[in-house]
Amino acid sequence: MKVLKFGGSSVAKPERIRGIVDILKDYYASGDHFTVVFSAFGGVTDSLIEMSSIAATGDDRYGEAFQAFAKRHQDAIKELLPAGDLRKETADKMKKSHEVLKNLLYGIFLVREASPRTMDYVLSFGERSSAYIIAQTLRHAGIPAEYLDARKIIRTDKNFSSAKVDFDKTYQVIRNYYTEHPKVQVVTGFVASAKGGLTTTLGRGGSDYTASLIAAGLQADAIEIWTDVSGVLTADPRRVKKAFTIPMMTYAEAMEMSHFGAKVIYPPTLMPALHKRIPLYIKNTFDPSFPGTKVSEESSRDGVAVRGISSINNIALLTLSGSGLFGVPGISARLFSGLATEGVNIILITQGSSEHAISFAVKPDDADKAKKAVQKAFEYEIERGVVNAVKVERELSVVAIIGENMRYQPGISGRLFQALGKNGINAVAIAQGSSELNVSVVIPREDENKALNALHEAFFLSDYKTLHLFIVGVGLIGSTLLRQIREQNEYLREKLGMEVKVVGMANSKKMIFDVEGLELDTDWKKRLKASETKADLAVFVGRMRDLNLSNSIFVDNTANDKIATYYEGILDESISISTPNKVATSSSYQQYQRLKAIAAKRGVQFHYETNVGAGLPVISTLRDLLDSGDRIRKIEGVLSGSLSYIFNNFDGSRPYDEIVREAKEKGFTEPDPRVDLSGKDVGRKILILARETGVALEAKDIELKSFLPEGAMEAESVDDFFQVLENNQDYFAKLQADAKAEGKVLRMIATLEGEKASVGMQAVDTDSPFYNLSGSDNMIVFTTDRYRERPLVVRGPGAGAEVTAAGVFAEIIKIGKFLS
Ligand code: ADP
Ligand code: ASP
Ligand code: MG
Repeated sequence: MKVLKFGGSSVAKPERIRGIVDILKDYYASGDHFTVVFSAFGGVTDSLIEMSSIAATGDDRYGEAFQAFAKRHQDAIKELLPAGDLRKETADKMKKSHEVLKNLLYGIFLVREASPRTMDYVLSFGERSSAYIIAQTLRHAGIPAEYLDARKIIRTDKNFSSAKVDFDKTYQVIRNYYTEHPKVQVVTGFVASAKGGLTTTLGRGGSDYTASLIAAGLQADAIEIWTDVSGVLTADPRRVKKAFTIPMMTYAEAMEMSHFGAKVIYPPTLMPALHKRIPLYIKNTFDPSFPGTKVSEESSRDGVAVRGISSINNIALLTLSGSGLFGVPGISARLFSGLATEGVNIILITQGSSEHAISFAVKPDDADKAKKAVQKAFEYEIERGVVNAVKVERELSVVAIIGENMRYQPGISGRLFQALGKNGINAVAIAQGSSELNVSVVIPREDENKALNALHEAFFLSDYKTLHLFIVGVGLIGSTLLRQIREQNEYLREKLGMEVKVVGMANSKKMIFDVEGLELDTDWKKRLKASETKADLAVFVGRMRDLNLSNSIFVDNTANDKIATYYEGILDESISISTPNKVATSSSYQQYQRLKAIAAKRGVQFHYETNVGAGLPVISTLRDLLDSGDRIRKIEGVLSGSLSYIFNNFDGSRPYDEIVREAKEKGFTEPDPRVDLSGKDVGRKILILARETGVALEAKDIELKSFLPEGAMEAESVDDFFQVLENNQDYFAKLQADAKAEGKVLRMIATLEGEKASVGMQAVDTDSPFYNLSGSDNMIVFTTDRYRERPLVVRGPGAGAEVTAAGVFAEIIKIGKFLS
């Protein structure tokens, strides 16, 4: 004998019911004995609750909801059964039954009250309607089916809405009933009855329980819970997209999963199955051939420590503390008997080893009641001031990792806290079940999804981890970066087990978001342009915060100074930053320090390698030197591609102004070349390098030694500026000739020596590494204790969208590796 149960989502629509009829026809044809339990059609229980509560307020609009309910069932009958006697019989019977419901609702409307007892009766119409209609449909399909109202076989107390089952009596009745009724019984889930024939229910989701009670009564071979997902998954698939089916788990593991919120199995279901050692299978109605999950005594020998992750979305945490608790025996007994008297269910308990405080989690609705009960139990101590008033914290969730093998593996909690910490999630309280089957952590409710995803990534390595990118600025660098990500994604997934999703992007006009990751095909520009959402940085940042995704990284590809003012808030939300934008790092030293401190505090990364030398490894090389104990004596660099180009070409063969003009035409300089020639931009780069070495400089401390002739900087327009250069051809020619006479060439070099930083033109001879510099290359020369005789040189293209984007990309990957 097998007991099958189909849930509300599996019978939400007539076409789905047809699929179930096919499944059952196969069972019947195979000769297996079976009985089948049905939930109400999906959403029906909720709608019955709603119509009763409308009626209870004295509002006659409950009638509309009732009509929709009645019509839904009549429509289903029409769709499932062809015109004829059986359809008529079914429709008439339903109509009669629904008349009773209508009268009942009218009664609620009149007395304006729906007691739990009345509600259970109202709710029974959901299962009674669905099971009856499906029983008739099965008969039509040639299965000798018989409708069974579970009130006939399941006996409970009068604890309406969540009645306790009288097991012995129930099992006895079930056995007798099934012996006398050999046909295929089609049973209403969820409903039961108490003494006097009163209708009770087993609690929301209780149809699973009905199935396991029947199975236990009949000592069945198996229970099959058919639902809308492929078994028990490693986490709730609505919250963790990468969750996958757990093929096998023990009763104890399944019990912990369901106790900690995995709705797929109603918690009380497992007890009868466990007692009678009946295996339980969770199967997918939409994918019947998939094996799903087997829950039994057998523990899987795969050695996997964490079997699954689950969460309870909304709890309140109460804390009793004070010196009066220290070393006094019987405290817990008093505390919990006080709570038990009030009927408060405790979800989780934690006690610090110091015994100065005990915290426990309860449902939010129970919080006030629980607080009162505990204050009463400790009235005497509270009055004397040795125990503090009970603290209540709300808007919290519990996440739990569950697995039987956890106790054999060290380092599990470490991994758990690391994953939470790196995502900036604060653990409010921690509890480890004494059976060591679970470790549960109380966290802010808003972080629940992020925590589930972060933990899923931390414990299920077979999967790849996802980085969530938010990109601002999709001009030359930004769009190159997007292309590089698209081209490299497959490699990253295969080789690094990493997936990069661009969740949000913005330019100065528009922004778009997609939690599933924006398409990065060639049309993303069009989609951004067509977006209805105007660009607004505050909104962009707010959205990023609200999405609260694990491994979030903000990428600023602009040179905008307004964006940088958001960095602090972004890091504070535990979102890492990668950026070529120099504004934040070259603003005040205090701000630079603050950003670093916030990143450290939040356990996230703030990286800006491309601030200096574009894609060249300049800042990371400097950090490696410092981290490994080297001491920086001097840093010199040609840190600007435009200045490099201009001076490398200034060999006396052409006038200076002509070279600058050419550089501008080739797009090597800013539209106003003075931005480059003044040394200001290079000054910011050496400033950043100085700060990285630990020298607390401000922009004003950088000495900019101008070599430009008088009037050049003051010229009103760029044209006027070129005129000044042209008028001073002799001056430039002499600079070059004098250098040449000494066997030297001119270079624009930024220098940091000790605490002094400067930018200026220098004449260098063949001994200098800068002598042979060519094209628009950057070159950075580190003279250190270790690299004293022959300095360490980093050289290569220091500008251009391709290399800069690649630098940002590499940095994103580096952050990704750190985050998980
Ligand atoms: P039914 O109507 O079949 O009883 P439920 O809605 O009660 O279905 O339970 C199935 C739902 O449970 C799934 O759709 C899924 O969203 C949720 N769920 C939560 N945690 C898990 C988990 N770990 N594995 C599978 N499903 C889960
Ligand atoms: N119909 C009931 C509910 O929605 C019972 C169940 O579906 O298991 O809670
Ligand atoms: Mg259910």
